[in-house]
Amino acid sequence: MNDGSSAVRIHPAGANPSTIDTATGNRGLQIEEKLIFEQDSPGQCGVDLPEPPDLRSRLGGLERQGRIGLPGLSEPQVVRHFTRLSQKNYAIDTGLYPLGSCTMKHNPRLNEKLARLPGLADIHPLQPLSTVPGALELIDTVAHWLKTLTGMPAVALSPAAGAQGELCGIMSIRSALEARGDRRSRVLVPESAHGTNPATAAACGYAVDHVPADATGRVNRGALEAKLGPDVAALMLTNPNTCGLFETEIIEIAAAVHAAGAFFYCDGANFNAIVGRVRPADLGIDCMHLNLHKTFSTPHGGGGPGSGPVVLSAALAPFAPLPWIVRGANGLELREHPDGVARCSFGRLKSYHGQMGMFVRALAYMMSHGADGLRQAAEDAVLNANYLRIRLERELSLSFPGPCMHEILFDDRFLKDTGVTTLDFAKALIDEGYHPMTMYFPLVVHGAMLLEPTESEAKSSLDQFVEAMKALSEAVRSGEVSRFRAAPVATPRRRLDETAAARRPVLRWRPGEDRQAAE
Ligand SMILES: *Cc1c(COP(=O)(O)O)cnc(C)c1O
Repeated sequence: MNDGSSAVRIHPAGANPSTIDTATGNRGLQIEEKLIFEQDSPGQCGVDLPEPPDLRSRLGGLERQGRIGLPGLSEPQVVRHFTRLSQKNYAIDTGLYPLGSCTMKHNPRLNEKLARLPGLADIHPLQPLSTVPGALELIDTVAHWLKTLTGMPAVALSPAAGAQGELCGIMSIRSALEARGDRRSRVLVPESAHGTNPATAAACGYAVDHVPADATGRVNRGALEAKLGPDVAALMLTNPNTCGLFETEIIEIAAAVHAAGAFFYCDGANFNAIVGRVRPADLGIDCMHLNLHKTFSTPHGGGGPGSGPVVLSAALAPFAPLPWIVRGANGLELREHPDGVARCSFGRLKSYHGQMGMFVRALAYMMSHGADGLRQAAEDAVLNANYLRIRLERELSLSFPGPCMHEILFDDRFLKDTGVTTLDFAKALIDEGYHPMTMYFPLVVHGAMLLEPTESEAKSSLDQFVEAMKALSEAVRSGEVSRFRAAPVATPRRRLDETAAARRPVLRWRPGEDRQAAE
């Protein structure tokens, strides 16, 4: 429990729960959960339905020939199985989740309530447009907010994640270059970039050219300018960058990129640090993705799909993916072929119109916070990160001194010659009841630990986290190497052999196989 109000903590020392032998394998109320296939009792079913009458098959011999091997269980067995599995998860709803670059902030319940309103939840993308003017209005309102907050004139809402937003942006840039008969072959990407940046550029057929960082953790402007040339299609720059630092020379960088005839793509995954304080349009960017599941509090994974809208400059707007929402004489319309645009646009990015449920949640977040509330969220995210920085900078090794934005980058210099690695330290944090920080990313420092508390955390929660981190760094100093090597010991499963897990993954268990061997 990380809310600071409870003293319930599992200590690996003393009565080590992992050493208690019980008849069932259960430990306290932690139930040792068998695979659902191991719980199979053939023929058992949750519901009692009458045998279907003899029907004449219309499948022409393609019908199923035998059992498909679904396990037989009663409804309560299924409910317990999945409920127990869900309880083995760590989530933002159970505690601080300091995963840098991911902005694991609270997902307000108001968002969920609104997304479940039947008028929004039950509509279908193939419904006649005349029956869903409200949905179009909602999408257009989300677009309005995103354009206002970024200062950009256009937005493409369909991308389903940040990575797909990058793809959308670079495809728009490539279309714009091709439209002017300009074939360019290189995309510049700083060394600290998220892996999706070079992957996107390569997927679009560009050669990726890495730009080194300078001593302050920012992109080295001299090196960048030396790499610019008539064959450079774009620069992909993250701001604030993945070292948690604002790129202070971004305006000069934008000017240099434009002078070379290239486009400036900004990775806006870290927008949470600057919403309401900085308008990306004022920095000279041409195109930027936003992660609704980061900055705008929609759930990550599990709780719903991602959503990565892309804002575009006036020059790139004609190349945005189809369809467009356009205000016509009779209100909003969805246009597959807006006048003249079909020739420019690269077409559709995905089916339908984007992640509607995420638009509802993001709009609920924006409207319930208001412009001042969004700005305060950004300021509090930066404040929380700097609080952690100041409380931890003497315990760990801070990579770049001075104030940070929404996240703090440490490296493994404080672990030098101790026998403990960044991975060991992260695993020991699990025993302390925390999801680990981002490890070994960004690549510009050795053994990176990237911490992002977000604005959601109360001071008491940050203080408890600091105590856990301090206890671990003291344990490092007093040479408790074996404790780190063994961690985690308080979890249902111990440390995996990560090499074997990557090289020989066992993705399937079949009845009769030895499960231990499979693990
Ligand atoms: C999260 C992230 C991405 C990718 O976004 P997804 O929504 O996970 O695809 C790209 N760049 C940075 C800096 C990120 O933090």
